[in-house]
Amino acid sequence: MSELNLVLLGPPGSGKGTQGERLQEDLRLPYYATGDILRAAVRGETALGQTAQEYMDRGDLVPDEVIVGVIAERIDSNEALDGFILDGFPRTIPQAEALDAKLKELGRAVTAVLLIDVPDDELVRRLGGRRTCEENGHVFHVEFNPPEQEGVCDLDASRLIVRDDDKPEVIRKRLETYHAKTEPLVSYYDQRSELRRIEGAAPPDAVAEEIRRTLATMRLEQDETV
Ligand SMILES: [Zn+2]
Repeated sequence: MSELNLVLLGPPGSGKGTQGERLQEDLRLPYYATGDILRAAVRGETALGQTAQEYMDRGDLVPDEVIVGVIAERIDSNEALDGFILDGFPRTIPQAEALDAKLKELGRAVTAVLLIDVPDDELVRRLGGRRTCEENGHVFHVEFNPPEQEGVCDLDASRLIVRDDDKPEVIRKRLETYHAKTEPLVSYYDQRSELRRIEGAAPPDAVAEEIRRTLATMRLEQDETV
Protein backbone atom coordinates (compact mmCIF):
# COMPACT_ATOMS: atom_id res chain seq x y z
CA MET A 1 0.00 0.00 0.00
CA SER A 2 1.27 3.46 -0.87
CA GLU A 3 1.41 6.00 1.93
CA LEU A 4 -1.37 8.52 2.46
CA ASN A 5 -0.02 11.89 3.55
CA LEU A 6 -3.03 14.13 3.97
CA VAL A 7 -3.57 17.80 4.78
CA LEU A 8 -7.02 18.96 5.90
CA LEU A 9 -8.27 22.45 5.08
CA GLY A 10 -11.62 23.96 5.95
CA PRO A 11 -13.26 27.01 7.49
CA PRO A 12 -14.47 27.20 11.10
CA GLY A 13 -17.77 25.31 11.29
CA SER A 14 -16.92 23.04 8.34
CA GLY A 15 -16.75 19.92 10.52
CA LYS A 16 -13.06 19.47 9.67
CA GLY A 17 -12.18 18.22 13.16
CA THR A 18 -14.98 15.64 13.10
CA GLN A 19 -13.91 14.37 9.69
CA GLY A 20 -10.27 14.29 10.84
CA GLU A 21 -11.20 12.05 13.76
CA ARG A 22 -13.19 9.73 11.51
CA LEU A 23 -10.34 9.52 9.01
CA GLN A 24 -7.96 8.72 11.83
CA GLU A 25 -10.17 5.80 12.86
CA ASP A 26 -10.94 4.58 9.34
CA LEU A 27 -7.40 4.77 8.01
CA ARG A 28 -5.54 4.15 11.28
CA LEU A 29 -3.21 7.03 10.59
CA PRO A 30 -1.82 9.45 13.19
CA TYR A 31 -3.70 12.75 13.35
CA TYR A 32 -1.56 15.82 13.91
CA ALA A 33 -3.41 18.90 15.04
CA THR A 34 -0.61 21.47 15.07
CA GLY A 35 -1.35 23.04 18.44
CA ASP A 36 -1.45 19.60 20.09
CA ILE A 37 1.84 18.37 18.67
CA LEU A 38 3.61 21.62 19.55
CA ARG A 39 2.38 21.25 23.13
CA ALA A 40 3.44 17.59 23.13
CA ALA A 41 6.93 18.54 21.92
CA VAL A 42 7.22 21.13 24.68
CA ARG A 43 6.07 18.59 27.31
CA GLY A 44 8.38 15.92 25.91
CA GLU A 45 11.27 18.40 26.16
CA THR A 46 12.76 17.57 22.78
CA ALA A 47 15.37 20.09 21.58
CA LEU A 48 12.84 21.55 19.15
CA GLY A 49 10.19 21.58 21.84
CA GLN A 50 12.51 23.66 24.03
CA THR A 51 13.15 26.06 21.15
CA ALA A 52 9.40 26.41 20.60
CA GLN A 53 8.94 27.01 24.34
CA GLU A 54 11.46 29.88 24.28
CA TYR A 55 9.49 31.67 21.58
CA MET A 56 6.21 31.10 23.39
CA ASP A 57 7.69 32.31 26.71
CA ARG A 58 8.66 35.56 25.00
CA GLY A 59 5.15 35.81 23.59
CA ASP A 60 6.50 35.46 20.05
CA LEU A 61 5.07 33.32 17.26
CA VAL A 62 6.89 30.04 16.81
CA PRO A 63 8.75 30.32 13.45
CA ASP A 64 7.67 28.12 10.55
CA GLU A 65 10.94 26.14 10.50
CA VAL A 66 10.52 25.18 14.15
CA ILE A 67 6.91 24.04 13.60
CA VAL A 68 7.91 22.12 10.48
CA GLY A 69 10.77 20.57 12.46
CA VAL A 70 8.37 19.43 15.20
CA ILE A 71 6.00 17.97 12.59
CA ALA A 72 8.91 16.27 10.81
CA GLU A 73 10.03 14.62 14.06
CA ARG A 74 6.61 12.99 14.28
CA ILE A 75 6.29 12.16 10.58
CA ASP A 76 9.77 10.63 10.51
CA SER A 77 8.83 8.02 13.10
CA ASN A 78 7.38 4.54 12.99
CA GLU A 79 3.87 5.76 13.76
CA ALA A 80 3.59 7.58 10.41
CA LEU A 81 5.09 5.03 8.01
CA ASP A 82 1.76 4.56 6.20
CA GLY A 83 0.92 8.24 6.26
CA PHE A 84 -0.53 10.95 8.47
CA ILE A 85 -3.32 13.51 8.69
CA LEU A 86 -2.24 17.10 9.24
CA ASP A 87 -4.75 19.66 10.55
CA GLY A 88 -4.02 23.33 11.24
CA PHE A 89 -0.79 23.46 9.28
CA PRO A 90 0.18 24.77 6.78
CA ARG A 91 -1.80 28.01 6.92
CA THR A 92 0.38 30.08 4.56
CA ILE A 93 2.33 29.50 1.36
CA PRO A 94 5.76 29.84 3.08
CA GLN A 95 4.59 27.17 5.54
CA ALA A 96 3.42 24.94 2.68
CA GLU A 97 6.80 25.37 0.97
CA ALA A 98 8.67 24.60 4.18
CA LEU A 99 6.55 21.47 4.65
CA ASP A 100 7.14 20.33 1.05
CA ALA A 101 10.91 20.87 1.41
CA LYS A 102 11.03 18.91 4.67
CA LEU A 103 8.93 16.05 3.29
CA LYS A 104 11.20 15.91 0.24
CA GLU A 105 14.21 15.53 2.55
CA LEU A 106 12.43 12.54 4.05
CA GLY A 107 11.73 11.15 0.57
CA ARG A 108 8.02 11.81 0.93
CA ALA A 109 5.37 14.21 -0.35
CA VAL A 110 1.84 15.39 0.35
CA THR A 111 -0.55 12.87 -1.24
CA ALA A 112 -3.67 15.02 -1.14
CA VAL A 113 -5.10 18.15 0.42
CA LEU A 114 -8.75 17.74 1.36
CA LEU A 115 -10.59 21.06 1.33
CA ILE A 116 -13.91 20.79 3.16
CA ASP A 117 -15.88 23.41 1.30
CA VAL A 118 -18.97 24.95 2.88
CA PRO A 119 -20.79 28.09 1.65
CA ASP A 120 -20.50 31.05 4.03
CA ASP A 121 -24.28 31.28 4.52
CA GLU A 122 -24.34 27.71 5.78
CA LEU A 123 -21.38 28.40 8.09
CA VAL A 124 -23.15 31.44 9.52
CA ARG A 125 -26.21 29.28 10.10
CA ARG A 126 -24.17 26.60 11.85
CA LEU A 127 -21.98 28.91 13.91
CA GLY A 128 -24.65 31.54 14.56
CA GLY A 129 -27.11 29.08 16.13
CA ARG A 130 -25.07 28.71 19.27
CA ARG A 131 -26.68 29.85 22.51
CA THR A 132 -24.74 30.10 25.74
CA CYS A 133 -26.07 29.99 29.28
CA GLU A 134 -25.39 33.32 30.96
CA GLU A 135 -24.59 31.90 34.38
CA ASN A 136 -22.57 28.73 33.76
CA GLY A 137 -21.60 28.74 30.09
CA HIS A 138 -23.65 25.66 29.10
CA VAL A 139 -23.83 25.52 25.32
CA PHE A 140 -26.85 24.78 23.11
CA HIS A 141 -27.67 25.14 19.43
CA VAL A 142 -31.05 26.26 18.14
CA GLU A 143 -30.96 23.57 15.46
CA PHE A 144 -28.59 20.77 16.46
CA ASN A 145 -29.02 20.77 20.23
CA PRO A 146 -32.01 22.95 21.17
CA PRO A 147 -32.95 23.55 24.82
CA GLU A 148 -36.34 22.22 25.92
CA GLN A 149 -37.61 25.73 26.38
CA GLU A 150 -36.44 28.42 24.02
CA GLY A 151 -33.98 30.86 25.59
CA VAL A 152 -33.67 28.91 28.86
CA CYS A 153 -30.82 26.63 30.00
CA ASP A 154 -31.98 23.03 30.59
CA LEU A 155 -29.48 22.56 33.41
CA ASP A 156 -29.93 25.62 35.60
CA ALA A 157 -32.80 27.62 34.04
CA SER A 158 -30.47 30.60 33.36
CA ARG A 159 -31.04 32.85 30.38
CA LEU A 160 -29.44 31.76 27.08
CA ILE A 161 -27.63 34.50 25.19
CA VAL A 162 -25.87 34.93 21.83
CA ARG A 163 -22.22 35.62 22.65
CA ASP A 164 -20.51 38.38 20.64
CA ASP A 165 -18.37 35.77 18.86
CA ASP A 166 -21.53 34.03 17.65
CA LYS A 167 -23.16 37.10 16.11
CA PRO A 168 -23.59 36.84 12.32
CA GLU A 169 -21.57 39.98 11.50
CA VAL A 170 -18.66 38.79 13.67
CA ILE A 171 -18.80 35.33 12.07
CA ARG A 172 -18.75 36.88 8.57
CA LYS A 173 -15.66 38.92 9.51
CA ARG A 174 -13.94 35.76 10.73
CA LEU A 175 -14.84 33.95 7.51
CA GLU A 176 -13.51 36.87 5.42
CA THR A 177 -10.20 36.58 7.24
CA TYR A 178 -10.21 32.82 6.69
CA HIS A 179 -10.81 33.20 2.93
CA ALA A 180 -8.16 35.90 2.52
CA LYS A 181 -5.59 33.71 4.28
CA THR A 182 -6.57 30.36 2.82
CA GLU A 183 -7.26 31.09 -0.84
CA PRO A 184 -3.57 31.50 -1.81
CA LEU A 185 -2.90 28.16 -0.14
CA VAL A 186 -5.79 26.55 -2.01
CA SER A 187 -4.31 27.81 -5.31
CA TYR A 188 -0.87 26.56 -4.31
CA TYR A 189 -2.15 23.00 -3.85
CA ASP A 190 -4.50 23.23 -6.81
CA GLN A 191 -1.56 24.05 -9.11
CA ARG A 192 0.18 20.94 -7.82
CA SER A 193 -2.94 18.87 -8.53
CA GLU A 194 -3.00 17.86 -4.87
CA LEU A 195 -6.24 19.63 -3.99
CA ARG A 196 -9.47 17.66 -3.60
CA ARG A 197 -12.63 19.66 -2.91
CA ILE A 198 -15.14 17.96 -0.64
CA GLU A 199 -18.75 19.17 -0.51
CA GLY A 200 -18.97 19.95 3.20
CA ALA A 201 -22.52 21.32 3.35
CA ALA A 202 -23.86 17.73 3.40
CA PRO A 203 -24.49 15.85 6.68
CA PRO A 204 -21.33 14.44 8.36
CA ASP A 205 -21.95 10.84 7.18
CA ALA A 206 -22.28 11.95 3.56
CA VAL A 207 -19.14 14.09 3.84
CA ALA A 208 -17.22 11.13 5.28
CA GLU A 209 -18.48 8.97 2.42
CA GLU A 210 -17.35 11.50 -0.20
CA ILE A 211 -13.89 11.63 1.40
CA ARG A 212 -13.72 7.83 1.35
CA ARG A 213 -14.68 7.75 -2.35
CA THR A 214 -12.20 10.51 -3.20
CA LEU A 215 -9.33 8.68 -1.50
CA ALA A 216 -10.32 5.36 -3.12
CA THR A 217 -10.32 6.96 -6.57
CA MET A 218 -6.95 8.55 -5.89
CA ARG A 219 -5.54 5.16 -4.90
CA LEU A 220 -6.79 3.60 -8.13
CA GLU A 221 -5.20 6.38 -10.17
CA GLN A 222 -1.92 5.93 -8.29
CA ASP A 223 -1.92 2.19 -8.87
CA GLU A 224 -2.49 2.71 -12.58
CA THR A 225 0.47 5.04 -12.91
CA VAL A 226 2.85 2.70 -11.00
ZN1 LIG B 1 -26.70 26.69 32.28
